[in-house]
Amino acid sequence: MNLVQSRHRPAARGIAGLSEAVVDLSAVRDNVRTFRRLVPQDVMAVVKADAFGHGAVPVARAAIEAGATWLGVARADEALQLRAGGLTTPILTWLYDAAELMLLGDVDVDVSVSTIAELQRVASIPSVHCVHLKLDTGLHRAGSAPDQWIELTRAAAHYEALGAVTVRGIWSHLSHGDSADAVHSMRQLQLLRTGVSLARRAGLRPSVVHLANSAGAITLDAPDCDLVRIGAGLYGIDETGIGLRPAMRLMSKLAQVRRIHAGEGVSYGHDHIAPRDTTVALVPLGYADGIPRVAAGQASVLCRGVRMPVIGRIAMDQLVVDTGDLAVEPGEPVTIFGDGSHGEPTARDWAGWAGTIPHEIYCGIGSRVPRRYEAVSDGPAPSRAGAGPSDTAWEGNR
Ligand SMILES: *Cc1c(COP(=O)(O)O)cnc(C)c1O
Repeated sequence: MNLVQSRHRPAARGIAGLSEAVVDLSAVRDNVRTFRRLVPQDVMAVVKADAFGHGAVPVARAAIEAGATWLGVARADEALQLRAGGLTTPILTWLYDAAELMLLGDVDVDVSVSTIAELQRVASIPSVHCVHLKLDTGLHRAGSAPDQWIELTRAAAHYEALGAVTVRGIWSHLSHGDSADAVHSMRQLQLLRTGVSLARRAGLRPSVVHLANSAGAITLDAPDCDLVRIGAGLYGIDETGIGLRPAMRLMSKLAQVRRIHAGEGVSYGHDHIAPRDTTVALVPLGYADGIPRVAAGQASVLCRGVRMPVIGRIAMDQLVVDTGDLAVEPGEPVTIFGDGSHGEPTARDWAGWAGTIPHEIYCGIGSRVPRRYEAVSDGPAPSRAGAGPSDTAWEGNR
């Protein structure tokens, strides 16, 4: 094949096509069901940041199939993406600007409101918005300061009486949600309870009160809350040991294999010098794909059932593993991380090597890595003529 021809080949089968993030939607469904079994509240599936890198629309659909009744996203554009993807479930977004409010109202997305200025902005939009008033109970990020809460709830009751807004929810966010120490969380729950009763006194009748994230849902007993906002837990980040299943596995294939001699250096700067003759193999994933560069020297991957150390610096597009004396071949599958059940590292292992949390590993998997979905639906097989049983779907490069 000459150069001109190869330049016109579809890019999807190039080296980058050797890698994929496989998302098992049955794990997402199982994780939602685990929370539904363990906590009395309804589940808001938090699919911000493209569902922690897993793909917002497919994950949202799976979560709803398993019984989630709300979707939560940080940003307005994420909420619009869910509506564009055909999701009709109630959605709450907590970061938006004035220009986005009109669009959110048009597609019936609830917005968080922390201040009177925000409330006035929302009320000035003709399409009636459902709002969730946010009380700062200790995180000191967004939310109404407690000493402004009475004024905010009175103003909200005023606008509600005018038909300009509907106060559907009252909420707050935990500062120590992932910690076993429940003292902060209990204090925050007490403050939220006070906030709710003050809101009622102002005439508001919110239908949902919510506070806890994934870990807080398990560690904090809050029978007066209606929803728990489950992010990490959806993806199998199991902070409280309740048997969640990691949903994503990051796969690649060896792009090249070669022998090197003792004393030869590998990758930029020769940080690694081969202590003996060995075989090295190229994996076509690098820090642009979310492989943390700082994990070099500690990380390993699984190939042929064997852990192979990542050697030398992790580059933008590729990394090198030492295969020892195993006679591996180009094209052999490599698991970068998975649920650990076959001896592969987990996202939590990578987080440990990189000094971070699994959330950041998942969110960091770059847009060059295509997502492929397994177990797309639990539901009845599609009845459309010619639509075969499909348990795999490509979302393509995003
Ligand atoms: C991300 C987020 C959540 C989900 O938290 P997890 O610990 O991932 O379950 C819930 N609420 C808010 C406001 C968030 O930003």
